[in-house]
Amino acid sequence: ETVLKVVDLGVSYGETPAIAQLDFEVKRGEFVAILGPSGCGKSSMLNVLSGLMAPTRGRVVVDGDELYLPRSKDPRLGYVFQAHRLLPWRTVRQNLEIVLGASDVPRDTWHARIDEILEILHIAEFKDAWPMRLSGGQRQRVSIARAILVDPSYILMDEPLSTLDEVTARSLRQELTGICQRTGATIVFVTHSIREAVYLADRIIILTRGPAQVFENYIVPLERP
Ligand code: ADP
Ligand code: ADP
Repeated sequence: ETVLKVVDLGVSYGETPAIAQLDFEVKRGEFVAILGPSGCGKSSMLNVLSGLMAPTRGRVVVDGDELYLPRSKDPRLGYVFQAHRLLPWRTVRQNLEIVLGASDVPRDTWHARIDEILEILHIAEFKDAWPMRLSGGQRQRVSIARAILVDPSYILMDEPLSTLDEVTARSLRQELTGICQRTGATIVFVTHSIREAVYLADRIIILTRGPAQVFENYIVPLERP
């Protein structure tokens, strides 16, 4: 079942092409990585896929419906930023309740949902903590929990491990596929790290200056214990 369909997408700024041509589909439960060096059009693509910017050409279809603009509050979309963007004056639980409040998730299920997702991300003990008391890795776990919590059609992740130190990034990377399997989340993961793409993704899309290339990822990643 196709969740996200990107058809003949092109973005240019005046005469400057940022994305030449991009076509891909993401099925429910898939983990797709979009890989490319800086300047290859990653930000432009994130802006289009999150409904912040109209493409110059092409279409973005989510669950069979065209993504109309501006759709930055489209409930079908979850977003994990490079840095967490949690509200500092709200506890972890309150940060999660804000997105639940904007969703149609029934209030009597919030408590159980929050407990479950915090458990899956191994941050249950921080439910009543202030974000600034958490480590960078813990904060990014909360921000992933926040995106998964309302069960969006798909989740866009913009280099979510890139601001973390090596050890923290590695442990979250090692858990991320398991988290997605347990929650059934569909992920589009944007990164410049080949390691992350190969380790995490079912499929890797490489953005280049010409048409983007799509690769099935058959490599079984091995990490040293
Ligand atoms: P990335 O995020 O991979 O670095 P961008 O989407 O930011 O890529 O940029 C792709 C290309 O489009 C680059 O050549 C960049 O200079 C150009 N570009 C990005 N934003 C603008 C803009 N607002 N006006 C003109 N050119 C832009
Ligand atoms: P890079 O992306 O720079 O190749 P690595 O993920 O290989 O970074 O990590 C850098 C260091 O951590 C290396 O010294 C490597 O040997 C070590 N390392 C890599 N994976 C693990 C792991 N799962 N457990 C412990 N150390 C590791």
